[in-house]
Amino acid sequence: KEEVNIISGALELKEKVVRDVMTSIDDAFMLPEDAVLDFETLNEIREKGYSRIPVHEKGNRYHIVNILYAKDLAFVDSRLNMPVSVFCKFHPRNFEFVFEDVTLDHMLKLLREGSKGHMAFVLKVVTQDEKDPYYDLVGLVTLEDIIEEMIKAEIVDE
Ligand code: ADP
Repeated sequence: KEEVNIISGALELKEKVVRDVMTSIDDAFMLPEDAVLDFETLNEIREKGYSRIPVHEKGNRYHIVNILYAKDLAFVDSRLNMPVSVFCKFHPRNFEFVFEDVTLDHMLKLLREGSKGHMAFVLKVVTQDEKDPYYDLVGLVTLEDIIEEMIKAEIVDE
């Protein structure tokens, strides 16, 4: 039964798209670059438990400037009150963008082979009548979202 699920899940990767499995950007736990890594913020990060935290431009959740890796925070002293922007200068991370209609088999390949880590940001093309099309940031997607779809079961986090 489990094997059948995995195989049919793998076949369906061709039919499903990133939009179907992503985490909406409005549900993402992110930090503004002007946040300060004080006791409170570090505690909040720990409580949320995510290994990657997108950092966005001050006042604009839709403009990502870096990804903060929780493991990099191990030696940050809360008494330093280090601004996230300063931390990011010491820990710049690559990240990539994908369009929401990319199929999951393709996305799996991108995330596996990519030198840019296992999180990507999802863009939607917005076309408004006469105006030039533009991109909106709508979500984030990780390798886990795709694996989960493939094995058709929730992965219980450690
Ligand atoms: P983690 O290693 O932090 O547990 P995973 O890559 O295993 O993250 O992803 C687990 C789930 O959490 C996925 O659905 C992913 O989209 C979501 N996720 C990952 N990082 C964040 C974040 N910073 N805010 C909200 N959701 C996130």
